[in-house]
Amino acid sequence: MPAPDADTLADLEQRLSWQAATPKPRLVISASALHLYHECPRRFRYLWQLRLRDPGASPDPLAAREQEGADRLGAADLGTLAHQVLAGLDFAGLRGNPDAWSLPASLQSLALADQRDLERFVQTALESDLGAEIAAAERVESEVSFSLRIGDEPNWLEGRIDLLCRGKDGPLIVDWKTDRVAPESLREHAERYHPQLWAYRAALREEGDAEPRTDLFFLRLGERVQVEPQAGNEADVAAVFRGIRAELLDVTGPHRGCVECPFKSHCRHAKQAEGNFDAYKMIEPTPAPYRPSGD
Ligand code: SF4
Repeated sequence: MPAPDADTLADLEQRLSWQAATPKPRLVISASALHLYHECPRRFRYLWQLRLRDPGASPDPLAAREQEGADRLGAADLGTLAHQVLAGLDFAGLRGNPDAWSLPASLQSLALADQRDLERFVQTALESDLGAEIAAAERVESEVSFSLRIGDEPNWLEGRIDLLCRGKDGPLIVDWKTDRVAPESLREHAERYHPQLWAYRAALREEGDAEPRTDLFFLRLGERVQVEPQAGNEADVAAVFRGIRAELLDVTGPHRGCVECPFKSHCRHAKQAEGNFDAYKMIEPTPAPYRPSGD
């Protein structure tokens, strides 16, 4: 093959420099998608890339329930409604008088068991020491939107902080959780939210706020878990964006997240466990290269 002439070389160099300068597309994910990918890249793929519907989650839980003629709400829908109710709760006004609160009329057509669940979540939050701290705060905001740039690439994380209050001990971020979790697994379960909570803290810092505390409150157990920052949190968030860009969307096998996954009856990884997840509960979902023909 003859050596390329000077013009060909110049053309090649120009193309290479053009390629290097081509900007990467923006990648925007929500804080809940971040958590989902961290939990299981394959589940992320089902929900966010293949746009499969989680049977327990709808954008409008009440309308979906009526449309489908379902009795009980799915777990994710119950969580959505619990967040809506808690976002409108007047902690200061109801402190010491939780019976003054009643379920909004729009939710009184729900199945009685779902109504009782929502009422119990509210009572638990109001009567907790966290509820007392929120009630005593100088300023309380719910559903605080944020947008956070991650790293040097056009990676953006967007989301909403459930509740942010400011009192004598500085800012406090509260994330309400309706997860079903055994008391003995609570601490370990809470640690899975580290990347998401790092993002909330980083977003507030970018606004020039003081370093906030971050608390998870598990409404089913009435347990408050304070989550301290960890050295690897930022790297974990960056790894999620790298993984999505590189299409690392598969996992190497069943893992603990499969137990409550809505896709477990279809997913080949869950099928490997043949209904016995005990042996897999402690395995982290290790991302493996995405293969389009995998399913
Ligand atoms: S069943 Fe397990 S491996 Fe499959 S998507 Fe769900 S969590 Fe992921």
